[in-house]
Amino acid sequence: LSSSRTLWELVTRRAALAPDRPLFLQDDRTLTFGELAARAERVAAGLYGMGVRPGTVVAWQLPTRIETAVLSFALARLGAVQTPVIPFYRDREVGFALRESKAEFFAVPGVWRGFDHAEMARRLGARGVFKAYDDLPDGDPSVLPPPPSDGTAVRWIYWTSGTTSDPKGVLHTDRSLLAGGSCLAHALRPSAHDVGSIAFPYAHIGGPDYTVMLLLYGFPAVLFEQFALPDALEAYRAHGVTMAGGSTAFYSMFLAEQRKQPGVPVVPSLRLLAGGGAPKPPELYHAVVREMGVQLTHGYGMTEVPMITMGSPDDSPELLATTEGRPPEGMEIRIVDGEVRLRGEAVCRGYLDPGQTAQAFDEEGFLRTGDLGRLTETGHLVLTGRLKDVIIRKGENISAQEIEALLHRHPAVGDVAVIGLPDAARGELVCAVVEQPPGAGALTLEAVTSYLRAEGLAVHKLPERLEVVDALPRGETLRKVLKYRLRERYSGG
Ligand code: ATP
Ligand code: MG
Repeated sequence: LSSSRTLWELVTRRAALAPDRPLFLQDDRTLTFGELAARAERVAAGLYGMGVRPGTVVAWQLPTRIETAVLSFALARLGAVQTPVIPFYRDREVGFALRESKAEFFAVPGVWRGFDHAEMARRLGARGVFKAYDDLPDGDPSVLPPPPSDGTAVRWIYWTSGTTSDPKGVLHTDRSLLAGGSCLAHALRPSAHDVGSIAFPYAHIGGPDYTVMLLLYGFPAVLFEQFALPDALEAYRAHGVTMAGGSTAFYSMFLAEQRKQPGVPVVPSLRLLAGGGAPKPPELYHAVVREMGVQLTHGYGMTEVPMITMGSPDDSPELLATTEGRPPEGMEIRIVDGEVRLRGEAVCRGYLDPGQTAQAFDEEGFLRTGDLGRLTETGHLVLTGRLKDVIIRKGENISAQEIEALLHRHPAVGDVAVIGLPDAARGELVCAVVEQPPGAGALTLEAVTSYLRAEGLAVHKLPERLEVVDALPRGETLRKVLKYRLRERYSGG
């Protein structure tokens, strides 16, 4: 299986080996490995009938569901170029992704969680809009051209969180995603008896990454379209989930549940909490392991490289708590001027914008991550900061600069600094600190959020706290706002 050159080849090999074993479990529905292969072929034929060809760019903005995975693999079967967009993104991000990728088709859920995606697609002038929620395109697979054989062609465009400037379109190939998935499997060491879970948006790079692991090892995962307690815990118990996780916020959530009934396992089948993508306080690590009696492995990843390092069960508790773990075999890490640089099969092929690609890779082909870090003597990575300014709320990276740029245009805002404040439930929450121009009327959090909403900012990026100050603290030389002072001032209250 691990010698598969394309994702589709991996699907067909697994389907031939274990056609009747479940791959995805959602509510009371199951999709087996065999059904994935068969359904994706029919959907591919339906898409082909609509005019999708190998190389056609197809955008999709769909939630974490069985149908979404089937559509994604149908596109992989066809050899189309797919560009997944996170479901809670709105006009700004979606319009950007459609324009930049020049998508010829756009799959949407219709009305989802009270928001009309089809209407937004029309408003944005999206081409080839079709609904892909319950009913997917369908056709007779005999019309299909042969599946792609080249795993090194660009077939995936993922979007970075847009922390530094506009989001970047990241180019992945089947080969880089296969490498990413096997890195993940290496770190989590699953067996065919495990039951995993996908509670994060399937439109993240983690979607195919995690699914490759399931295909390699032949075990299922529970999918969550909406994640809400206590139903989610009920689903974990009912399906006997052994591996759960997501971002740091997940660990806190499980721990809070645990503390309601100390000593009684929250999910008896659970053996491992795994996640990454955001900082993890060492105290949280120790508390989870001690109070829940499960393993916790945490890792470092980015849209460009879904898994860079991850803690291993062989590491000491101290290393697991204080580092991001070690890179898997085949991933080279180098620290240059404090910045982490990477080279390996799982690294993306570049960006949609060739200028960005040229800047991002150094002379020896290492990717500049923009993250600051150091390696311990044992080869474990410690992240020390970022070259850029980012807030990570519930595992989603939010650009302070994007919100600041919008708020600067508000008449009652003179200057503004947007910062992340530590928050046990969310990881960080978004706080806007505003300096008002003379004579401006009073500003409320409600006024700020409804303004940003009207500007098309995604709901998860809206500030949850507003502070109005006489003067922002500034550095002596460049008069740049000293955000660390603000963080100190407002952290913990
Ligand atoms: P953009 O590239 O558009 O500026 P972004 O880098 O925030 O946005 P993502 O690819 O979603 O977009 O996020 C990857 C970043 O998240 C990493 O580069 C790193 O800064 C941060 N990150 C990932 N894992 C961890 C971790 N374990 N600890 C701390 N930070 C992490
Ligand atoms: Mg980045």
